[in-house]
Amino acid sequence: MSFTDNFIKKQKLTLSAKRAIFSISKYEVMFKKLILFLLISILFINCKNASITVLSSSNVADIINNEFTGDLAFNTASFVEKYWRVVGNTGFNKSIYKIAEELEKSGFVLEENATENDILTYRIENRPLKNPTWESVNAIVKIEGKNDTLLQHATNRNMIALNSYSTPKDGVSAEVIYVRDFEKIADLDVKGKIVFAETSPYGIYKSAIIEGKAAGIITYNNPSYLQPEKNTTSIQFRSIPIDTVNKSWAIAMSFAAKERLKASLEKGKTTLKVRVKTNIYSSEELTIVADIKGSEMPGERLVFSAHIQEPGANDNATGVGLALEMASLTAKFIKQQQYEPKRTLTFLWGDEIISTQRYVQEDSIRAKYIKWGISLDMVGEDTEKTGGTFLIEKMPDPSAIWTRGNDKHTEWGGSKMKLEQMKPHYLNDFLIDKFKQQGKRANWIVGTNPFEGGSDHVPFLRQNIPSVLFWHFTDQFYHTDNDRIDKVSKTTLKNVGTTALIAAYTLLNADKKVAKSILLNLETAAVSRLNEEFKQSKIAINNGDSLSTQIEIITAWKDWYQKSFTTTSGLFSDEKVINNDIEKSQKLIDSISSVIIKELQKKN
Ligand SMILES: [Zn+2]
Repeated sequence: MSFTDNFIKKQKLTLSAKRAIFSISKYEVMFKKLILFLLISILFINCKNASITVLSSSNVADIINNEFTGDLAFNTASFVEKYWRVVGNTGFNKSIYKIAEELEKSGFVLEENATENDILTYRIENRPLKNPTWESVNAIVKIEGKNDTLLQHATNRNMIALNSYSTPKDGVSAEVIYVRDFEKIADLDVKGKIVFAETSPYGIYKSAIIEGKAAGIITYNNPSYLQPEKNTTSIQFRSIPIDTVNKSWAIAMSFAAKERLKASLEKGKTTLKVRVKTNIYSSEELTIVADIKGSEMPGERLVFSAHIQEPGANDNATGVGLALEMASLTAKFIKQQQYEPKRTLTFLWGDEIISTQRYVQEDSIRAKYIKWGISLDMVGEDTEKTGGTFLIEKMPDPSAIWTRGNDKHTEWGGSKMKLEQMKPHYLNDFLIDKFKQQGKRANWIVGTNPFEGGSDHVPFLRQNIPSVLFWHFTDQFYHTDNDRIDKVSKTTLKNVGTTALIAAYTLLNADKKVAKSILLNLETAAVSRLNEEFKQSKIAINNGDSLSTQIEIITAWKDWYQKSFTTTSGLFSDEKVINNDIEKSQKLIDSISSVIIKELQKKN
């Protein structure tokens, strides 16, 4: 007899003993049962009530923090990151259909089947693709005479440059020619050889392949922020021009492979055996758009965008997954009648910049009423592994002209802007405030960077639609084949998604009261900015910078905030209600900046 059987017998004994005791008073038992039933019923009703609490400004942060798990975001990112995605290819399209499937599960109805009463709808837009799509299948590079491989696709899926054609089935064997000065490829005889250069293959494609008739290209140029000497196996993906005539190829190397190749070249003549297999075929361009229709101002909308293409997990399977969980949770709140957006909330997944550019242009009436655009790009990083922090890339403000103090450009880099490029708006400080609150709550680091561009916020800004980017940088695996799901953190996804929704719900239902609180928050931000710039200007003057520049900086910030104050009137129809408050804030900032300028003049 096993221990378990014995245990069960003992249990049975105890139960029957209990039964004997209870049978003493049958009525007592019935009474107890009734009490228990009532207790359970009350508990159940309470629980039910708790789960259908209507969202309000006082509970929205708590409820979303409880309900946003990061599970759907993470699982979707895990699905998407398996594929090397470029518009039109298998992975890109599978991601689109995965999103559609999950939207359906959450209650979204395909637009063509929807009725007027459907609040949750989605559509898949299908357009012909001008250029053929591309996907990598397999590749291997060997130094002839060596048994092991220099690189193989199974462990380095970024090794084939985008738009590369396949080699013949048995591969290509050719001598490597190391071109140190790649400006002078034309002076060399590279015909039939593999050109090795420490630059981007795109830049030398014409001289090496089209003009030089080289057999192929092999390159290395991982930037230093990837810490290539530490992350020796990373390859940052590269591309070459589409060339249907020469149908050539390029291989990008890791630091380790490059060192090996160089060592071999130092010893003497080096021949490489290269085998590349890719698929190049005509396809279609898919975009998926989900709408959550606003109840009062359906034309006005907030758009979250996430690009699908690019091969990484953080860039940008995380954005794809995060937008999906945000849409799905919002659908749940709506179905449970916890939340009703007054304005429309839109989620757009597609080809970076191309889809968003089209979205803000093609329908002029729709475009006119887009009130905000937020790009979700690299939003789930495990920063202990990747480095960097979460960042809100601000709409152009004077920190993009005079970057000093706490403001810092990322290693992605930005160019110095001009005053006429400024976009004064409340959105920056409104979002910074919301994210700092979550940062405090979740012990999470939130940073900002001056405008740099390069993602889906750019088309919105070009159309004068307020827009920011949520992202992370530096990421030591950015655009490399080591940007995989093990670098993604569910906690980060939860933090970004939670706060993005808190902010979104506030904006979507903003009224006079919300506008006034946003204005007040903006005024506080303006005062602290002017104080900080005052401090920086004093330091600058002590370091010999000119007074006139300092006055220019203080004035730029004053103007930026004064104009930003006026944008809060766009949050509701009756602008006059807030005009007095705006004027008051403007006067305050005016007087503070005058005092600062006078103080600086004294110092000089
Ligand atoms: Zn990206």
